[in-house]
Amino acid sequence: MKVIDGKLCNNAGTPVPFRQAFDTRGPFSAPPKVLVLHYDAMRSQSEAVSALTRNDKNYISAHLSLSREGDWVQMANLGEVTLHAGDGTLAAARPYGTYSWGGVGRSTLNATAIGIEINNLGWLDRRRGELWTRQEQELVVGWPAADCIVAVHPHRGGAKMGWPRYPDEQIAALDKGIAAILAAFPSIERIVGHDEVSKQKYDPGPAFPLDAIRQRFEKRGVSP
Ligand SMILES: [Zn+2]
Repeated sequence: MKVIDGKLCNNAGTPVPFRQAFDTRGPFSAPPKVLVLHYDAMRSQSEAVSALTRNDKNYISAHLSLSREGDWVQMANLGEVTLHAGDGTLAAARPYGTYSWGGVGRSTLNATAIGIEINNLGWLDRRRGELWTRQEQELVVGWPAADCIVAVHPHRGGAKMGWPRYPDEQIAALDKGIAAILAAFPSIERIVGHDEVSKQKYDPGPAFPLDAIRQRFEKRGVSP
């Protein structure tokens, strides 16, 4: 894949499908320094893209959505600020712990971050037979236990929960997208999980192979 004029494209130069997010905040004032990886907490990519493009000022937006099958949908030009990292701060980043970045603080992470929403249901707190479900939504949300890992969230602590796995084809597509983004934005110095930069967040969670991804891109100048 490659990035052409802020659009993620296949090798032939054809942009991936595009659905414009409603609330974006104009061009980055300086080249972005961070790639923030999220899960979308939705059952499907179409549900996620509908939510992420709904007509609602100050809701949430992100640059890209990635399906479990590895299909991309772009929702904002990669040169534009979107609203996905909330009150995230790099100063709070774990496992890095102590480092902070001048000028990148509370509520400003969005101003320097490209965001990818990866389709994954996220934490499930009740096991019901062969399904992990979310207690408050168990009639509508569930995932086969055989396709979940069981873990305590490494940053949030608490009880053991079920976390749907990320399929290999999804991670393979993510690698290609990240490679294209890093080639287009050599300014990017960090790949972080949302849960590393915001204390309130669980995504992308313990089922996500974040360390392995960082290691694969370390040689391109991205710090682990
Ligand atoms: Zn997130």
